[in-house]
Amino acid sequence: MNCKGVIRELSNYIDGDLDPVVKAELERHLGHCEDCTMIVDQTRKTIRIICDSQPVELSGESRTRLHEALRKKMGSSPS
Ligand SMILES: [Zn+2]
Repeated sequence: MNCKGVIRELSNYIDGDLDPVVKAELERHLGHCEDCTMIVDQTRKTIRIICDSQPVELSGESRTRLHEALRKKMGSSPS
């Protein structure tokens, strides 16, 4: 596999969606290609930041406010 192949399979690789044979080839390429190793690394980090930040935002203050607003709207009546 060459660099273009790695880029093409990158999202599948990171998702863990890759055919084991293709994955082995890709990792073999990563073993001797610093550029692709860096790209994979950066992409993983970026995805992790996106995935981590979303639940934090949702479970933060805005969510508490949302719940309070809902409770007021619903009044004291049990659901
Ligand atoms: Zn490469």
